[in-house]
Amino acid sequence: MRAPIHDTLGRPLGALRMSVTDRCNLRCSYCMPEDDYVWLPREGLLDFDELARVARLFSELGVDRIRLTGGEPLLRRGLPDLVAKLLLLETIGEVALTTNGVLLDSQAAALAAAGLRRITVSLDTLDPARFQRLTRKDEHARVLAGIDAARGAGLAIKLDTVVLRDVNDDEIIPLLRYAASIGAELRFIEYMDVGGATRWRRASVVTREEILVRVREAFGAVEPLSGRGSAPAETYRLPSGASFGVIASVTAPFCRACDRSRVTADGMWYPCLYAARGLDLKAALRGGATDDMLRALLETAWRKRDDRGAEVRALLPDREALIPASALRGDPHLEMHTRGG
Ligand code: SAM
Ligand code: SF4
Ligand code: SF4
Repeated sequence: MRAPIHDTLGRPLGALRMSVTDRCNLRCSYCMPEDDYVWLPREGLLDFDELARVARLFSELGVDRIRLTGGEPLLRRGLPDLVAKLLLLETIGEVALTTNGVLLDSQAAALAAAGLRRITVSLDTLDPARFQRLTRKDEHARVLAGIDAARGAGLAIKLDTVVLRDVNDDEIIPLLRYAASIGAELRFIEYMDVGGATRWRRASVVTREEILVRVREAFGAVEPLSGRGSAPAETYRLPSGASFGVIASVTAPFCRACDRSRVTADGMWYPCLYAARGLDLKAALRGGATDDMLRALLETAWRKRDDRGAEVRALLPDREALIPASALRGDPHLEMHTRGG
């Protein structure tokens, strides 16, 4: 086992998010609010052998956790085969998946059979009409059916909720009760000004402090749990013993402990969600680079990493959407749904 590789801020290369597609079957207002999108060319997407090679190379450099994401990862045909392929890599301790749940009903069993154990489902509301307004699709019932199917298949479930002021902030408590009823841990996410969030406004962010006030009002004392490590969520325990998390990327960025990087479905590697530039791994992969050459490329880039995007954003006095829609059309890699949340 080799020593971890550290970046300029002493952060080890630890977790990798692999986006398997930039396509999505929802249009969440905080992620894909525009009418039209420029998509990655299909022929440019890495195939499963290429994705598995990328995963292996990263794992040989210290990555021990992989999360498959998108866009909507369940739109990628044959995804369980990729899960099985990644789990064959002895150096990868954990493969997880983040999904909007729409297609989970039909795929949960196959994913579990492929060896997946943990899944995160994004769920922002319990109200079907509100879901439709928020995502522009009438798919709420399928998401709930997908969560049931995941439970039935024995997958450990986490729920992620982006909290938006005057949109779903009245559901903090109902969502916590729902999560408890299905034995899932819920994590509230502050609305982030990432690429793609062209409607972001500071006033729409419901902060960690506000969330905690509302939870205390409903349940009483909330005990912070220690030992967050490099995980983005701070976790808290309710008097019932159930726990929940808050990802406070806007008001309390956690860049100093961030060991995550992201690969897009077409093989661009980004050291940070906010990074302006990435490294073109596909060009190297398809250009005949050897494993040694690729590992050297990754190692050199990680050692130079100095990104702390959310921290830098937090220092801005007048914070607005990160990137205007016109610029996003010039480079889809700047989109959250391409980069993989
Ligand atoms: N489509 C899948 C899903 O929604 O779970 C996976 C990709 S999505 C980009 C991953 C996560 O990013 C989701 O939990 C979503 O809520 C979150 N996300 C997207 N835009 C966000 C924003 N502006 N602020 C905070 N979280 C965001
Ligand atoms: Fe919503 Fe995820 Fe699709 Fe973004 S990628 S629009 S968060 S479902
Ligand atoms: Fe990591 Fe960048 Fe997010 Fe900070 S903003 S936590 S460095 S991905």
